[in-house]
Amino acid sequence: MLRHTTVGIIGGGPAGLLLARLLHRAGIDSVVLESRNRAYVEQRQRAGILEQTTVDALRACGAGERMDTLGLVHDGIELRFDGRAHRIDFPSLTGGRSVLVYAQTEVVKDLIALQLDQGGPLLFEAEVHAVEGADTERPLIRYTHRGREQTLSCDYVVGCDGSHGVARDALPEPVRRTYQRSYPYSWLGILADAPPSYPELVYAHSPRGFALGSMRSPTVSRLYLQVPNGTDPADWPDERIWGELDARFALRADPDWRLRRGAITAKAVLPMRSHVTEPMRHGRLFLAGDAAHIVPPAGAKGLNLAASDVIILARAFIQLSETGTTELLDAYSDTCLRRVWRAEHFSCFMTTTLHTDPGHSPFEARLQLSQLARIADSRSASAELAENYTGPPLG
Ligand SMILES: Cc1cc2nc3c(=O)[nH]c(=O)nc-3n(C[C@H](O)[C@H](O)[C@H](O)COP(=O)(O)OP(=O)(O)OC[C@H]3O[C@@H](n4cnc5c(N)ncnc54)[C@H](O)[C@@H]3O)c2cc1C
Repeated sequence: MLRHTTVGIIGGGPAGLLLARLLHRAGIDSVVLESRNRAYVEQRQRAGILEQTTVDALRACGAGERMDTLGLVHDGIELRFDGRAHRIDFPSLTGGRSVLVYAQTEVVKDLIALQLDQGGPLLFEAEVHAVEGADTERPLIRYTHRGREQTLSCDYVVGCDGSHGVARDALPEPVRRTYQRSYPYSWLGILADAPPSYPELVYAHSPRGFALGSMRSPTVSRLYLQVPNGTDPADWPDERIWGELDARFALRADPDWRLRRGAITAKAVLPMRSHVTEPMRHGRLFLAGDAAHIVPPAGAKGLNLAASDVIILARAFIQLSETGTTELLDAYSDTCLRRVWRAEHFSCFMTTTLHTDPGHSPFEARLQLSQLARIADSRSASAELAENYTGPPLG
């Protein structure tokens, strides 16, 4: 039975798993408690764009091998609007930066395999109910594993339990501040056994709504359509999805352009929201990843923010273990929140610039087109997008 650990980690998503690996490499012991089973966690379809900082951290903790073989380096994205296409070239606008297309499912599989192989307990089907004594020297995690109530005492607790987790509740109401925004649209996302019809991601704005062409591998396309909130995927048979995607990606210069089609293997609706909880620390409890903040996915920031939080936190625990100082731990919340708010701003900007808002007047719709034209025509506006998309270095 587990009784005590240095760092108790709640949640075995990308944030919790990466933190456990980074700590393990530094000789700091941890326990990861994950409520779901392994198969569920490994198959959950989510993000797929990795910034350089995330890639470097995965390599540093030994999880780079499959990623370096299967990941696809992308040097840009395409913006489509008003029937025209404009490429944003990342390296020339950012001093050489690019992104890597490698699915979150694969990142999670790699990290789980390493953790189980090289140690540091990782318990599946271990559901945490509460964190107690966050502001004491020995915080406790209460959880149920295999039907039995358990308690883990910790030097520190990290809540990496996503947007519906319990760790956030241990921040007392008087210190907790919440900032949020919802959007008047959702995404209908599909996975299709079809080679992507585009070499790089395509972000399309059209009067019919937003569409995104992404990919998971050279043979699997990931595509999204803006749909009204509350949409039932059953109302979107496959033929309707393909027809609508073709209409939103249409190019005036190439009217015969069509997506390559294939069997649709997954279909789900994803609401858009922005959310930040401050501070990201209370006593010996730290929040990381979606447990502290949510971004709408148009900026490809969710997974990368989760990774940068735990990289910053791992450095702080390493400083504590090597020198006994808590300087980086004390700065954790402020350090992360600077990055978080930049990503919140960019994600909100991408979302509101690219989607068709049902509440917009014709005047506002024309302003939106003007903003897109500004990005396409101005080097500084393109560079602003490219710098944010590829992510600032951690320093
Ligand atoms: C449907 C969906 C689609 C997305 N698509 C994109 C995208 O296209 N691009 C993008 O950039 N981002 C996307 N995101 C966001 C991105 O996937 C997240 O930002 C990322 O998963 C954050 O990682 P995390 O480890 O912080 O949280 P999570 O991945 O949510 O992991 C949290 C873990 O904690 C576990 N857990 C929860 N409660 C408990 C508990 N009480 N006890 C124990 N364990 C618990 C959960 O089972 C889960 O495994 C998407 C998110 C969702 C929900």
